[in-house]
Amino acid sequence: MQQKGYDGSESGEKSHYEELEKKLFYSSKNIWAEIDESKKKEIFSFSEGYKSFIDRARTERLTVKWTYEKLRSEGYKDIDEVDSVKPGDRLFSINREKNIILIRVGSEPVEKGINFIVAHGDAPRLDLKQIPLIEDTEIALFKTHYYGGIKKYHWLNIPLSISGVVVTKGNKKVEINVGIDEDDPVFVIPDLLPHLAKKVQNEKKASEFIHAETLNLVVGNIPVKDEKIKEKVRLAVLEKLNRDYGIVEEDLISAELEVVPCIKSRDVGFDRSLIAGYGHDDRSSCYSAVMANIEAETLSKTAITAIVDKEEIGSDGPTGAKSLYIFNTVGRLIEKLGGSYSDSLLRRTMEASTCISADVNAGINPMYKSVHDEKNAAKISHGIVITKFTGSGGKYMANDADAELVGKIRNLFNENNIYWQYGGMGKVDEGGGGTIAKYFSVYNTSVIDCGVPVIGMHSPYEIISKADLYYSYLGYRVFFEKFE
Ligand code: MN
Ligand code: MN
Repeated sequence: MQQKGYDGSESGEKSHYEELEKKLFYSSKNIWAEIDESKKKEIFSFSEGYKSFIDRARTERLTVKWTYEKLRSEGYKDIDEVDSVKPGDRLFSINREKNIILIRVGSEPVEKGINFIVAHGDAPRLDLKQIPLIEDTEIALFKTHYYGGIKKYHWLNIPLSISGVVVTKGNKKVEINVGIDEDDPVFVIPDLLPHLAKKVQNEKKASEFIHAETLNLVVGNIPVKDEKIKEKVRLAVLEKLNRDYGIVEEDLISAELEVVPCIKSRDVGFDRSLIAGYGHDDRSSCYSAVMANIEAETLSKTAITAIVDKEEIGSDGPTGAKSLYIFNTVGRLIEKLGGSYSDSLLRRTMEASTCISADVNAGINPMYKSVHDEKNAAKISHGIVITKFTGSGGKYMANDADAELVGKIRNLFNENNIYWQYGGMGKVDEGGGGTIAKYFSVYNTSVIDCGVPVIGMHSPYEIISKADLYYSYLGYRVFFEKFE
């Protein structure tokens, strides 16, 4: 038996205005409330692959390395090792161990446009200074210089690893990764005990109470046994480094050693709906865009996934998005496709192309709702976020995607059952941030930001939703397969 509604209609039937509300109002949906058990299983199994990826890919170099190994097993070939290229080919290119480009050659000529997805493999962290090792109070310390937008207090008293390369005498490159494997020792920056923090910390502003020059890692405490030596612990650490890696202190000047959290990613919540981990910004996009490139089915347009570096510090340098590396690689692709290469053909190709700037956005943190305009903000588990513009203040420094492009992406996602939502970056004048979108648009390529919402972004243990991750992957895949 059915109940009568207040207006006398049978329940289940909608009133005129209920119908109208459904038709006219925009709202995004909580994915978990919409999907069935088998979809949930798919989402959970996809996130297992992602978790094992971010637990390894803790730096931009390790992200490229993981991707390279994956591509080799998927039959991708180095573009510089093939003489010619044809539709259907899978190719890759690596730049300085920090950028990787994946190419799936489509059936259409490239000058009809390429579908690009560009993500960044770097994440906020601490870099070791070039002369890092000091000894104070018989404790050996590594001094650091922070990289990207961090809250300094996040980095105190958590387990940290050191990862990167040292170029030694004779230009030999030595890799160092300590702290990532389960049995490795870790490094810690000790905070001050609360009992004595009254003046030195508690009376200061949050942005000032931890000074950058106090972000020093404890790296050793056992001295060499020789009274003639002044810095006994410092020498003992160098002796150990020399024994293990064959390096001397001067070698550290030509090193890139990155200090990153080594806390493993874990499911969050009784329902395991979320993942906490380091570097979701932007490795969630890296993973989704790499998997979308590998798993996309028949392609008419050429599909390129690119992982760039240095996004967190402004995209400068030869490995950042401001570099011509992607542009040059497209040139090499055109050359190897045969036909006639010309500068104008390359430029026309870029102009006919479309790019998703695959980067995360801020999800609403229920404890800090006031910084968001809720109507225009992303919610966790409501799907991949479309962002028309980033920047700050009066849209300064923004790539403001055309309505035409936003329309095409929105319609593409709707037609292919991709859960998506609209999300901007906080209230107007609250702060702001940018992505690589504006750098890629210099080619006169249409660029739009799409990625997963993150809670606690730029912290050592960020939170994302498994559902958002999965629909970013599916969204990217549909873009490769169907965007015209
Ligand atoms: Mn980012
Ligand atoms: Mn970031």
